Amino acid sequence: MYPSPFAYHAPATIEETLALLARLPEAKILAGGQSLLPMMNLGLAQPGALVDVNDLPGLETVTEDGGGLRLGALVRHRTLETSPLIRRRCPALAEAASLIGNIRVRHRGTLGGSLAHADPAAELPLVAVALGATLEIRRLEGAREVSAAQFFRGYLLTDLAPGELVTGVRIPPFAPGTGYGLAELVRRAGDFAIVAACAVLTTDGAGACRHASLALGGVGPHPLVMRRAEALLAGGPLTDRRLAEAADAVPGEVAPESDVHATAAYRRAMARVMAYRALAQARARAVPGPGRAA
Ligand SMILES: Cc1cc2nc3c(=O)[nH]c(=O)nc-3n(C[C@H](O)[C@H](O)[C@H](O)COP(=O)(O)OP(=O)(O)OC[C@H]3O[C@@H](n4cnc5c(N)ncnc54)[C@H](O)[C@@H]3O)c2cc1C
Repeated sequence: MYPSPFAYHAPATIEETLALLARLPEAKILAGGQSLLPMMNLGLAQPGALVDVNDLPGLETVTEDGGGLRLGALVRHRTLETSPLIRRRCPALAEAASLIGNIRVRHRGTLGGSLAHADPAAELPLVAVALGATLEIRRLEGAREVSAAQFFRGYLLTDLAPGELVTGVRIPPFAPGTGYGLAELVRRAGDFAIVAACAVLTTDGAGACRHASLALGGVGPHPLVMRRAEALLAGGPLTDRRLAEAADAVPGEVAPESDVHATAAYRRAMARVMAYRALAQARARAVPGPGRAA
């Protein structure tokens, strides 16, 4: 299929982009095109105009940010996967990106595009929520920030207002003794997850949990934070039994729907399994030591 006719704009600066977005409310931002173009080809999106942000300077940078990371919105999945700085500071992001689609998709797709598209089964939104990431957003009138946990509002729905552009993502630094786990159920390698879980655990050196973060994808309209499971873990020893109790709380906190890939009941059951696996991986990696990041 072919897309409906659209006007094409390729601004050279962020200011020009924001002015265009303010002037053209029907416009869509074009980043890697890996989600938007298939939707246009299928007639599921029919924007009157595309604002191509690929030429904007400074949006592909990866920098250290007070012990954490600051990533431009145009950082490609492949960069997330291979950058030595990202692999050292935030291996969770690198692993998540390596699970996306295929090498062609990863070379074009962008961090900002994946977050803005907000597929509930996508890896990067899930990991952004679990890691406590913050999104930097600009519009003609100014700038704002929003936590990843607040950014995702529903199925393919975010906190972004018309005219707004995601410009960057900040990943906070992690205390020593922090480890992550990422587990997903997929039919074939590179598929969107049927169910995915990302856990981040910080231990105090004596085996007790100082901080727990657990998010699930594919079991609701957007990545879901497992508050009950997190509360069960925080403050106590990370024994097998406590991990199992936390995982047992997960099916009660998710809201899956049945589709062609899996029934809601199967997704709910697998949510528990993926949560346990992610927690167990995170515990194994949460060994105290200087500068180790999730
Ligand atoms: C074959 C195939 C397999 C895939 N498999 C997976 C997978 O396993 N897991 C996974 O997570 N994803 C998968 N994807 C999707 C891929 O990750 C996309 O790259 C991503 O979802 C969108 O990023 P993009 O840069 O291509 O955005 P685009 O397609 O250009 O844009 C997507 C949406 O985000 C908006 N947007 C883009 N950038 C910004 C910005 N900076 N600010 C505000 N809005 C913006 C656009 O207007 C559009 O609405 C797959 C895609 C394909 C084609």
